[in-house]
Amino acid sequence: MTELEDVLCCPICHGELKKEVPIDTQGKKREGKVGGEEKSRSSHLNCVECGRWFPLFQGIPMMLPDHQMNLKGEELNTMFQNPPGIAQRRTKRMAWYYDTPRKVGGIEEGCREDFGYGDLDGWVLDIGAGDRQALESLERVDQYVSIDVIPRDRPTVVADAHALPFSERTFDGVIARAVLEHVEDEQKVVSEVSRILKPGGLFMFSAPFIYPIHDAVDHHRFTIYSLRSLADRHDFEIMRITSTGGYFGLLAQHVYFGLRMIRDHIDTRFERKPLLRKVLRFFTDLTGMVIYFPFYLLRPLDGVYREMARNVQGRIPFVKGYGGVFRKRE
Ligand SMILES: [Zn+2]
Repeated sequence: MTELEDVLCCPICHGELKKEVPIDTQGKKREGKVGGEEKSRSSHLNCVECGRWFPLFQGIPMMLPDHQMNLKGEELNTMFQNPPGIAQRRTKRMAWYYDTPRKVGGIEEGCREDFGYGDLDGWVLDIGAGDRQALESLERVDQYVSIDVIPRDRPTVVADAHALPFSERTFDGVIARAVLEHVEDEQKVVSEVSRILKPGGLFMFSAPFIYPIHDAVDHHRFTIYSLRSLADRHDFEIMRITSTGGYFGLLAQHVYFGLRMIRDHIDTRFERKPLLRKVLRFFTDLTGMVIYFPFYLLRPLDGVYREMARNVQGRIPFVKGYGGVFRKRE
């Protein structure tokens, strides 16, 4: 049976890796393409092709293509935090504002067959796995491998999606939930996914179109056209593309997102003036409800709106985001 060690390779040259035990530090410096602090080096992975080495951080292989980043370990967690001013905690009270457009959605392209993560089997790679939410729906999987650029949630491997440290044709399925918008070069990432998938393997992803700029870095938005071209350029056949969101739901959502920022600001700015904070929050919520409510009431028309748009334009212009299932060509 294949083990993770057998498929893990150098993210740069795809050379084989050898696990090496700690070497003594009495002036024995290794000759390699990459230098580094020799003294702190414990057990590590060594590329037999190019000589680069990759440390283990609390047992997690650090396989980022940038050697200096691999040495940062814990520090990476803080490097990829949200910028200041973006609150981490959310107020429950406004939960009913959230996610309304998700209720409307449908197939934009491909078959009507209901694909879900549950359809994946064999070896599955979860890119940008975070706290591994996808794992709950994976039932038939032999090996689940998660990667992330930070070690915080203890991924199987710390890796960068632009340079995956896996041999070609390793995986039967790849998941990228809300990841493609955050990578610098989405073409490179999808070509890497294509490389490591077996022929016939499935790539399941979601990506936003009308959605506020979010998280530490946010590079792209996608449309039905960019998704088609991604599939085409990287040897995939489109099994299905779904979209969520409708006109009124999206308007409602944006009232919510805008107000949430104002609310977060009030909470931080007037932390020590509870009375003033309460008054300001009250007026923010009141304004929010007055603007929000008409759109909220009109949401049931979003299904009709989507049908109409499809008939008139042959496409749906107001989309919150897409979900895709691509299949690697044989
Ligand atoms: Zn190498």
